[in-house]
Amino acid sequence: MKKLFLIFIFTLLSKNGFSQFTEFHPELDWFTIKGEHVEVHYHNGAERTAKVIAKIADEVWDPICSLYDYEPTKVHYVVKDIDDYSNGATYFFDNKIEIWTSALDFDLRGTHNWLRNVISHEFTHLVQIQAAMKLSRSIPAVFLQMINYQEERRPDLLYGYPNYVISYPIATLNVPAWFAEGTAQYMRQEFDYDNWDAHRDMILRSYVLDGNMLTWNEMGVFGKTSLGNESVYNSGFALTRYIAQQYGEDKLREITKKLGKLGNFTIDAAFSVTLLLMRHLKMFWEKMEMKFIVNGKVILLKITQNVRKKLNRI
Ligand SMILES: [Zn+2]
Repeated sequence: MKKLFLIFIFTLLSKNGFSQFTEFHPELDWFTIKGEHVEVHYHNGAERTAKVIAKIADEVWDPICSLYDYEPTKVHYVVKDIDDYSNGATYFFDNKIEIWTSALDFDLRGTHNWLRNVISHEFTHLVQIQAAMKLSRSIPAVFLQMINYQEERRPDLLYGYPNYVISYPIATLNVPAWFAEGTAQYMRQEFDYDNWDAHRDMILRSYVLDGNMLTWNEMGVFGKTSLGNESVYNSGFALTRYIAQQYGEDKLREITKKLGKLGNFTIDAAFSVTLLLMRHLKMFWEKMEMKFIVNGKVILLKITQNVRKKLNRI
């Protein structure tokens, strides 16, 4: 007799499972500074930077948490002044943020105060993504699994040989890359730590003029060239900034919360319940057209064309 098993597995991935991307440096002496909301872990020679990071991290805590109406438990910052490398990384399942102290001097973006920029950016990631989780930090995915067995060929066997196993993962986190990076660069209106600068504007306009904008789906993922990945940031920043300016910052929270609903797996669905009114979508569409009038010629973004399709469906 064939047996068919349908199994839901709530995979409780160990939090340590994500630490494999972290390089440890046991050869260094590590110390910890405690702030009001955060702990900053640093090695020899990075004490002054660690103190600045603790100060900034506590200062940006309330503005970012209040925007998303979400407050994480204690966040751990790890300061790295080891490599000739500049970056920040947020481990949102771990409540951990790594900061490389070398300032990012990047031709494709303007000049910024590095530590204020990277801490506000990474902390926005941590808060916004945790606020968008459907379950909890300890359940990043649910697996729907089916197992089937051949009929038993011998009477002394309980089951036949397995003839197929299906494992289908269902992520409990569905934040497209453009929205995650857009909100992280936007931060809050009153923050002056990252800006829509002339570099970003020029690059986006060049894409529009060349008819080379990322499509809606391309904006949702990385895995491109370095310039292509930067365009995910750029497009996301432009669109997030537009949503915040046009509809108010609260919309960033509403979209985030909608992404966290159990039955909601796309940003389109999150939009449709938060920016439902056709009038609003139309305004968005028209504004984006106006934004890209170049030499008297109206240049349409592909994003707007996507919205136009939505409008036609309503
Ligand atoms: Zn980021």
